[in-house]
Amino acid sequence: MLKSSIYPLANPKGVKMECEICQKTAHIMCTQCRVTFYCDVTHQAADWNGIHEKICQLLIPVRMPLPFFSSKKEREHSKEQLVQRQKYLIDLTRTVAQKLLFEGRHEEAIPGALQSMRFASAVYGSLSAELVPSQLLLAEASIGLGRLQEAEEYLSQAQWTMMKATGCINAIQYKLYRNLGLLYTAKCEYDKALWYFADDVTDIWKNFLAELVETEIQKSLWKAGFSSPEPGTSLVDVEDVFDASQKAEAVKILHVIFDMRNQELLVKNGKIGNIAHTLAMLYYLFQDFSKAVKYGELALEDNKMFVHNKKEIATIQRLLTTAKKALSYPGGKGPSPYDWANSC
Ligand SMILES: [Zn+2]
Ligand SMILES: [Zn+2]
Repeated sequence: MLKSSIYPLANPKGVKMECEICQKTAHIMCTQCRVTFYCDVTHQAADWNGIHEKICQLLIPVRMPLPFFSSKKEREHSKEQLVQRQKYLIDLTRTVAQKLLFEGRHEEAIPGALQSMRFASAVYGSLSAELVPSQLLLAEASIGLGRLQEAEEYLSQAQWTMMKATGCINAIQYKLYRNLGLLYTAKCEYDKALWYFADDVTDIWKNFLAELVETEIQKSLWKAGFSSPEPGTSLVDVEDVFDASQKAEAVKILHVIFDMRNQELLVKNGKIGNIAHTLAMLYYLFQDFSKAVKYGELALEDNKMFVHNKKEIATIQRLLTTAKKALSYPGGKGPSPYDWANSC
């Protein structure tokens, strides 16, 4: 049961006095934990129904200022304990938000998702890739509520976080990037939001695939003995990024956009090239070289006729050359990645 109290707030030391939901100045407090504040009863009710009921008591040890410790050891132990509690709360709040999303209760999912993002930010820092799952939950909830602009903001935050996250690009980052593209599309695929998002979805996929294609082309050059890898080069395998169902999903998403663009007679010119290039890269990675050539040629034609982007034209031409060469191998399957692995 929700118990609220409306009386002037005493300010407990070290406890922030802003609304849990909107960060505006707080006027009321949750009387059960006494460490959570709200601007008004509407926001208190929203938080209670979304997440607070489940974490009210758990917030007390996390939000109360740390007691004074005489020894360094005690201090460190208590800090470690705080981090463990915060990590537990990240998991719990994310699970609750995810469950509510599954049930289509988008509005109620927001407080839990927000909470998980704050704890992730407290534990890992505001630029960490650990924030991305929360940002995706918030984006998904916003899409469900038809707040597309907010959704877009969360998604670009997630993209930004990914770009800024320390460490080199690895398979996990690729997967997150891929999920971002999937989420964008999966939520929009069957309604008019796709029209709004199609260019962004294409760009996300295009950038993501371009890096993978670059790696594959480098590999084939090394294999042919034209160049050798830079020391310390890390390689991502296509197989690590896509499993069979993810492959099918990727093909489906990009073809939905392609078909849409293909029907749009007025904006087809100069637009179809982008999605065709993306499909060409996808098929190249999946070693379906004849389709890679088909879409690559369409992309090249659109670019030469309407866009005139020299760099883009050169990239497509290189992809076409490599795909055509692969087609000329027996069976049209190109050199096997296993041959490459064995040669080094
Ligand atoms: Zn508020
Ligand atoms: Zn409470």
